[in-house]
Order: sequence, then C-alpha cells, then structure tokens
Amino acid sequence: MKLRTFGAALTGVLLAASLVACGGSQESTDASATNAASTDTSAEATTYSIATDTAFAPFEFTDDAGNLVGVDMDILAAVAEDQGFAYTINSIGFNAAKQSVQLDQDDGIIAGMSITDDRKETFDFSDPYYDATACCAVAIDSDITSLDDLAGKNVAVKTGTQSLDWAESIKDQYGFTITQFPTSDVMYRDVVNGGSVACFEDTPAMGYAISTGSAALKIIAEVEPGSEFFSQYGFAVKKGENAELLQKFNAGLASIKASGKYDEIVSKWISTGNDTTATGATTQTAADETTEDAVEAVEDADVEEASTDETTEESIE
Ligand code: GLN
Repeated sequence: MKLRTFGAALTGVLLAASLVACGGSQESTDASATNAASTDTSAEATTYSIATDTAFAPFEFTDDAGNLVGVDMDILAAVAEDQGFAYTINSIGFNAAKQSVQLDQDDGIIAGMSITDDRKETFDFSDPYYDATACCAVAIDSDITSLDDLAGKNVAVKTGTQSLDWAESIKDQYGFTITQFPTSDVMYRDVVNGGSVACFEDTPAMGYAISTGSAALKIIAEVEPGSEFFSQYGFAVKKGENAELLQKFNAGLASIKASGKYDEIVSKWISTGNDTTATGATTQTAADETTEDAVEAVEDADVEEASTDETTEESIE
C-alpha cells in the first residue's frame, strides 16, 4: 500500500480514523474481504491511496468550506464503509491522477473517468457507475450555434480527456484549433473570457456548471448516445494490479446500489426533478435532466435575445 497524506485527504482520513477507532477487527475484516492472492501484509493492506481530479463538479470539487466533495467522493466513502477499507485521497487533476496510478504512486483512481478501449490497455476498470455524453459549450452571449460555426476558431479542451479525443477527431472536419487546459474550471473561464470560443466537456459536468451558475456558458452540441464518445464512468486500478481493491469496489458498488445509497448520493448532487423509486434508469435520467436544465437555460437566453432584437427593430421603425 502507498499511504499518501498530501492533497485533499479529509474524507479518507476521517474514514480511516473512524475505521481504526473501531479497532481490533481490522485485520480480520480485511482477511474476509480479500482472497489469499493478496501480497500486501497485515493491517496496512486496508489503506489505499486514491487519485482524483481537482475540479470536476459534481463528481469532485472543493466546496465553500474547503472540503473536496462530490458524487465520486460520496460513492468512494460509501463503498469503503461497506467493504471495510480505509483510504486517502490524492486530488491532483485528471491527467496527473491517471499518470500517478500508472507510476504506482496511487492504488486507484476515481475521477469521472470514462471506460474506454484504449484505457483498458493500461487500466482495469470497475463495473460502470455513471453514464455520460460529451458536449460542446460556448459563452452564454455567443453567436455560435453549431459546430459548423467553429471554422477558423480556437476551442478549449482538458488534457487527457475523452473530450479531447472527440475534439481531435472532428477538428479537421470543422476547421478549428485546440488549446489544452489542465483543469475544467480554468477551461470554462477561458471561454467566458473569450480566449477560446468553445470548450468540449462531459455533459454532466457542463450541465452542473451551467445550472449552478458557476459558468456563464450554454451547450450547443452533444454527442449521440450511440457514439463512441458516449461513455460510462468507472473506478480504475493499474492493469494487472490491485485486483483486491477492484473487487472490493465492485462488491461495494453492488451493495450501495441495492441498498438505495447510490441513488441517494446521485440525487443529492444531481437534480432529477422527480424523486421516484431507485432504478438503474434513474442515473441516466439524472444526467439527462441536468442537460435539459442547461438546454432550457439556452432556450431562455435565445428568447430574451429574440425579444431584444424585436425591440430594437421596433424602435428603428
Ligand atoms: N470522463 C472524461 C474522461 O474520462 C473526463 C474526466 C475528467 O475530466 N475528470 O476523459
């Protein structure tokens, strides 16, 4: 195990402390939850170091009180509690988190990370825990209404993401250039400030930023659910390593889905607009609703623009 204390470690440290405080049973809990193939020794094996992004709301981000919070943080805490393991969080950014796991500096990654065939060559993924599409967003007052309007313009994309792969795959077709940013918040700001005309981002993250008012952007295009850029998020470990952690994550995920805890977490962070019984479909509804909110916000903005135009025309007449 690799116990790392830097980064926003509060949740994990508190959990680790509470598990240790429960005392005594830690080794036996671990023994019952893992198989004999584990090469880690004794109680140390129950503390994992998990890498994550810094600013990927609502999955992981720093709240006003300075705590790293979000869907991923709550899912990890619930899974760890269910499976009786402790962990620390290493919040270092998406690309850095992926690299850190590959360099054996962290045991696993949870960061709204899309399960892709390419990544499966270097990571082992858990069962999927969230569905997402990618989208293109522009400043709220932008005249750009479709990808066709990006010709000759510069767009912002976050390093190491599937959205970057999407942007790369269509940049020649639409004739735009790409500037990469290390984090989502800095990327959004560049579009708001006019450095780039658009950004490419996962729809749940973009929808959340728009509906909470933290980014004055609007979504103008979204990949189709059948597209290769429609994705499912998974927890991941380095390929061939930490199999017991992956197995615990899967077992914990199944357990919190069955208990309703998973749906509770998702609806805490992502507004569904209806609090119906927990089903597998609820997840996607939640993502869709957030997108719908964002699209409605765009439509409202358009209506305002249209009526302003009318007023101008009327006063010219
Ligand atoms: N889901 C996207 C990916 O895996 C983005 C993840 C993120 O930015 N944290 O590439």
